[in-house]
Amino acid sequence: TNFNRGFYMSTSSILFSRAEQVIPGGVNSPVRAFKGVGGTPVFIEKAQGAYIFDTDGKKYIDYVGSWGPMILGHNHPAILEAVLKTAHKGLSFGAPTPLEIELAELVCSLIPSIEMVRMVSSGTEATMSAIRLARGYTKRDKIIKFEGCYHGHADTLLVKAGSGALTLGQPDSPGVPADFAKHTLTCSYNNLDSVARTFEQYPQDIACIIVEPVAGNMNCIPPQPGFLQGLRRLCDQYGALLIIDEVMTGFRVALGGAQSYYGVTPDLTCLGKVIGGGMPVGAFGGKKEIMHYIAPTGPVYQAGTLSGNPIAMAAGLACLNELKKAGNQERLARLTEKLVLGLNELARKHKVPFCVNYVGGMFGLFFTDKTEVKSYQDVMACDTEKFKRFFHYMLEQGVYLAPSAFEAGFMSLAHSEEDIERSLAAADKAFAAL
Ligand code: PMP
Repeated sequence: TNFNRGFYMSTSSILFSRAEQVIPGGVNSPVRAFKGVGGTPVFIEKAQGAYIFDTDGKKYIDYVGSWGPMILGHNHPAILEAVLKTAHKGLSFGAPTPLEIELAELVCSLIPSIEMVRMVSSGTEATMSAIRLARGYTKRDKIIKFEGCYHGHADTLLVKAGSGALTLGQPDSPGVPADFAKHTLTCSYNNLDSVARTFEQYPQDIACIIVEPVAGNMNCIPPQPGFLQGLRRLCDQYGALLIIDEVMTGFRVALGGAQSYYGVTPDLTCLGKVIGGGMPVGAFGGKKEIMHYIAPTGPVYQAGTLSGNPIAMAAGLACLNELKKAGNQERLARLTEKLVLGLNELARKHKVPFCVNYVGGMFGLFFTDKTEVKSYQDVMACDTEKFKRFFHYMLEQGVYLAPSAFEAGFMSLAHSEEDIERSLAAADKAFAAL
């Protein structure tokens, strides 16, 4: 499909060619390269509120929001002010500051299962460190993850979804030794039996389960009723820890995270994205007894030169303090619902097989005959060609969706009802063109 805009070269395509000479694939994180949808990635000049502007000055309604952090909208004045004010005092000290206590206290108060929290600089570091801690604390090596769940790019987490439960992990990427991956057991998301069978096979060896409480890296798949509770029960039965990876869902599915929304208490929680308000921040936390097990109080090593960076802490604090104001989560959920139910209706009008998933401020769009998408297999069976065409029709009309059929969509509080209506008007044309 040729989606080139007429015969002029966009500055994005010129920049992309230049970037490809010096940056692998022209990007610093793979999904940005538009491989999943074809065409040239849009290079961003600036962003404000619900909108991003490309280097040609074209404006888009943004449903990516930097993949989640921009929950208040881009360039929110409270965050900007906090960052500028803090920057005047120095960018990094590698020493403790009051700001990091404030953010830790706020996180502990918003997510009660977190009694203590350690700041890091990315979601990858959060999950990698939480798993090391779980292994050190339980003195066990194996971990369970789910097919289609992404927890950052640490070696033991880059394990291919094999043929479901009981398959020994195979590395998903060259560069990850098979020996590193062999302790990663892969189960099927929303399938408790696969987890129970894995525990039966390795009753003494499993340190933890790590799970996305709403899967957001295979599009968007909420947990089936009882799934997360079942994981909690199995962990208790076998003496394993439950790690809930709320890097995407934290402060977005609900202020207290998906764990509060679904009523399940993990031993450890991983956070990222929203917690930094757009600056590079991640965190992991949980029960005091377990958190005391990391250095310097405990034997499990974990560290970071820029961890607790003052600018990042100030941005995170401003973001969460704004977000926790009454009514915000409800508004986020209402806007999301308005968008996805509107899309559903338009798809039906144009007789395009389509369905949606959504929870709080995240959503998934599926081009499929199925009426419900609840497993990795369901997602894989969707029509990615149709998605690609839909994506480009929307992009042309100034609506920026995630450039992959396997990514979730993100709503922000800066989106107005009018933005949603304009997005739906664009979708009306896009569905018609399909
Ligand atoms: N866990 C989840 C659930 C994620 O969605 C992501 C990133 N999309 C990560 C971990 C890794 O975070 P980061 O990209 O900040 O390393």
